[in-house]
Amino acid sequence: MKLFVDQDLCIACGACISLCPEVYDWNDDGKADVTVDEIPSDVEESAADGMDSCPTEAIQEKK
Ligand code: SF4
Repeated sequence: MKLFVDQDLCIACGACISLCPEVYDWNDDGKADVTVDEIPSDVEESAADGMDSCPTEAIQEKK
């Protein structure tokens, strides 16, 4: 699974980063970004929790 953060939708609430810091972190623009190319299987669940917690649905799956 590959994910990305739509920078236009992220409101920098920090929910995804607190739920899954292995996958999400702040970028230089003060928004959240995905820091790994492929989501490691051992953090897939918390990465999905972060995705579900996003209030603006900014976290999306790369097709
Ligand atoms: S949960 Fe969504 S809005 Fe909040 S920081 Fe993460 S990507 Fe941005």
